[in-house]
Amino acid sequence: MPQHARLRYHLAMPQPHCHLFEVSLAVANTTGPFLDLKLPSWAPGAYKLVDNARNLRALVAKGPEGDLPVERIDLHTWRVHHDGADFSVSYQVFGDKPQIHQAQLTATHAMINGAAIFVYPTGGQDWPCELKLELPEGWEVSVALDETAPLSYTAPSYDALIDAPIQAGTFERASFETLGVVHEITWQAPYPMDRARVVDGLKRLVETEAAFWSGSAPATLPYSRYIFQYQHGPENFLNGLEHRDSMFIVGPMDLQGNSHGFFALTAHEVFHAWNVKRLRPVGLGPFDYQKPAHTTALWVVEGLTEYFTELMVLRAGLQGRSEYLRGVAGSIQMLEQSPGRLISSLSESSFITWNFGDDRWNGAINYYLKGSLVGLALDLEIRHLTENRQSLDDVMRALWERFGETDVPYQPSDVEAIASEVAGVDLSEFFELHLRTPGETDLAPYLAHAGLGLTVASRTASLQARLVNRDGGLYVEDVRAGGAAQNAGLMAGDLVVAIGGNRANEGLLPQIASQWLPEELVPVHFFRGDRLHETIIRLGADQRYGIESLPAPNALQQQIKDSWLASGRTAAREKTIV
Ligand SMILES: [Zn+2]
Repeated sequence: MPQHARLRYHLAMPQPHCHLFEVSLAVANTTGPFLDLKLPSWAPGAYKLVDNARNLRALVAKGPEGDLPVERIDLHTWRVHHDGADFSVSYQVFGDKPQIHQAQLTATHAMINGAAIFVYPTGGQDWPCELKLELPEGWEVSVALDETAPLSYTAPSYDALIDAPIQAGTFERASFETLGVVHEITWQAPYPMDRARVVDGLKRLVETEAAFWSGSAPATLPYSRYIFQYQHGPENFLNGLEHRDSMFIVGPMDLQGNSHGFFALTAHEVFHAWNVKRLRPVGLGPFDYQKPAHTTALWVVEGLTEYFTELMVLRAGLQGRSEYLRGVAGSIQMLEQSPGRLISSLSESSFITWNFGDDRWNGAINYYLKGSLVGLALDLEIRHLTENRQSLDDVMRALWERFGETDVPYQPSDVEAIASEVAGVDLSEFFELHLRTPGETDLAPYLAHAGLGLTVASRTASLQARLVNRDGGLYVEDVRAGGAAQNAGLMAGDLVVAIGGNRANEGLLPQIASQWLPEELVPVHFFRGDRLHETIIRLGADQRYGIESLPAPNALQQQIKDSWLASGRTAAREKTIV
């Protein structure tokens, strides 16, 4: 490989309303008769294959003597015959979808995951990169790359270049400094975010997470700068993606109605600055962008991140104990309503995430959901086994010290070995049951370690299907296998127009539980295509859980509960030693 090969990218957006990125790449000091340029088929953190190359067009190459021949090798590869000379290519990429793993350009803004628009040379992922941006007039930019001159940046490698999403347009900005690091916040304007509340919340979360990972040592951060990037999105839910020195969240930033969702997803993405961006399993970096990076460890990467997210929000004082426990009860309920838990194990689900079928939620288990609950079980089990001297916090810190700080990828078995080491007991049986065996996950014995019990709060009537409001119509998104809606003949894509003689709309859904009883027969009218159908649905019964203190907990149970659910930024260090 040439020693001084270099990649110089130039990105312009002269007609943003046409959604066309104009990209050029100058390649210097490369040898050989030709070089293959490729677009990634996936973006790190978003574990699904995307045909990015479909949006790339009009690629041409130029050398010192003029145009160079370009050969299309496959859907993702352009071979430039440069005969050893420096050359450049230019091309356009179309992007109009606001997806965190792709790129969108509109008249008002751009949100760019570099994997969607920057080609890379085969074998050249570690070549140093430069990037020059040309923005529409009046636009600003937010990107976590080193700036060498206005709108000029460098990255040590292609991997680093595309791990820094570019947000451009007009922004509101805020910043705070903590633990010696400046944190910037950029969000698309205009948006009435309560600046002081956002800054206060994010600062608490960062300090809480730094204290968590640092343990008894003084809190430190793994990065020297960080950017929180927020962008409006048309979906009614938030979507986020983690990066090494930044995070990107798109969706409705509703701090009035859903501040918990906003802070929790942000806490999740910041937690990834340690867990996966630096502490990572074998396979997740360096990346092969052309094929899936299989790992059985997404229960650690995503599941444990999800578990600790809610604890971080609690420890940061952004939610209370009862709110936290309500969330756990809700997760237990969701797991129980996931038929895929009986079919796919946590490890298998992690491995096949690239290829979930059309009946995903019935055929596989969500590793965020089950992974977070297995994390809870493991945490309480370790606290119980060690008489509250150790916890899952200690497992994560040991992993960080051995693999994160040393930049060595871990094997999934390392996590299990370290957990057993911290617990002082061989936990193979626990992992065999919860990671590698499909089936029910009984949380009650683990909650009991903290003096808590799972109670059935209610048993209510349910369609046992997910209905979503789209363009004013209520559509079946999916039906639960063996559930009421499926048994009545409903399927994904049906447009439900009436339930029990009432016009079906979003407002009616929450009333189902109060208006009818489980087992009651209710007529449902729906369109499938252009034909109106009627069916009688026998409503199912969904259990809602509550988590309550067990009567007369012993001293250890009380201590475990108090240290597990301790709030305040130094909670992680206030563990009661018995
Ligand atoms: Zn995540």
